[in-house]
Amino acid sequence: GSTIGILGGGQLGRMLASAAAELGYHTHILAPDAESVAAQTASSFTRADYHSRIVLDEMAARCDVVTYEFENIALEPVTYLAGKVPVHPAPRALEIAQDRANEKAFVGGLGGRTAPWAKVTSLAELEAALATVGAPAILKTLRLGYDGKGQVRLRSADEAAAAWEAIGGRPAILEGFVTFTHEFSILLARRPDGASASYPPPWNEHEDGILARSSLPAPAEIASQWTEAAALAGRIAEALEYAGVLACEFFATADGPVFNEMAPRVHNSGHWTIEGATCSQFENHVRAICGLPLGETSLTGAAVEMRNLIGDEADRWADLLAEPGTHLHLYGKGEARPGRKMGHVTRVSR
Ligand code: ATP
Ligand code: MG
Ligand code: MG
Repeated sequence: GSTIGILGGGQLGRMLASAAAELGYHTHILAPDAESVAAQTASSFTRADYHSRIVLDEMAARCDVVTYEFENIALEPVTYLAGKVPVHPAPRALEIAQDRANEKAFVGGLGGRTAPWAKVTSLAELEAALATVGAPAILKTLRLGYDGKGQVRLRSADEAAAAWEAIGGRPAILEGFVTFTHEFSILLARRPDGASASYPPPWNEHEDGILARSSLPAPAEIASQWTEAAALAGRIAEALEYAGVLACEFFATADGPVFNEMAPRVHNSGHWTIEGATCSQFENHVRAICGLPLGETSLTGAAVEMRNLIGDEADRWADLLAEPGTHLHLYGKGEARPGRKMGHVTRVSR
């Protein structure tokens, strides 16, 4: 059989490996992190430095295609691998998504609506940006943020110095605060030949900057913006010659969908698709990067709800199992630290 290489060993890699196994693929997972959980799947697993040429050469030799499951991986090893074996999505998608300013400029260039924004590399630039972007605003580190980490909100320009210090004085973008009714995401699967399929958009609710719940069908405020948002995601994927699942987060506003950010990978707001869609995002990612026909993205029931189990919420797992119709996913992580995603539950209503 063929072998799919996965860079990164978190829960996304674990769920990808399990979808790949169902389609008869072997997976070879490479993760540098001692806390990796994908190791517990029936995959071969190497815990090593991404920058080791020996390790990367071995991966290229063992795999027919390589993908990645988190966007904060260093670009260089991915580019190196792409010289030896097909890597999907292509490194350019990663390069753009890793830098919030590049990402917003790229999407703006494709006609996407974004919050007003400015790149800032010093306190003086932040103060100048506040004059043009306005307040309230959010200051986000350019790179490496996730789950709302590396972000600080500013109510007024007076808070510039404190905000700059709070993010550690790192290069950042300042974004105007978007007034929205709902948040949603477009998950699009695209094959190298351009064939694509996108899922109905979930309504995503966040708590403390972390996704708490995704539910479908989406309310009218989102449904009315679906076509425009999906068209933008399609243009992004096309411009990147993208293969795999692409996630784009949006705010539903009175002026239409406002693009927030993208992730060049499977996404937490798509976990509902495991039981709630005919073909899951994980299976469709595998199908897409292997050039296989894409699976149906339609709902399997009348309504679907996915809730993340964050920190000690996962401690009630046995109670959750006792609830009829609940699909429990635990990621096999050790310690339930606050804000850590330990698992999720999905309910499909008929
Ligand atoms: P993720 O875990 O999704 O990668 P992240 O750390 O990259 O998160 P964002 O998605 O940029 O962060 O922001 C986290 C949340 O903060 C958003 O889902 C939204 O609720 C809120 N938010 C971010 N930017 C804005 C904005 N410009 N206006 C209003 N709310 C915002
Ligand atoms: Mg993000
Ligand atoms: Mg986000």
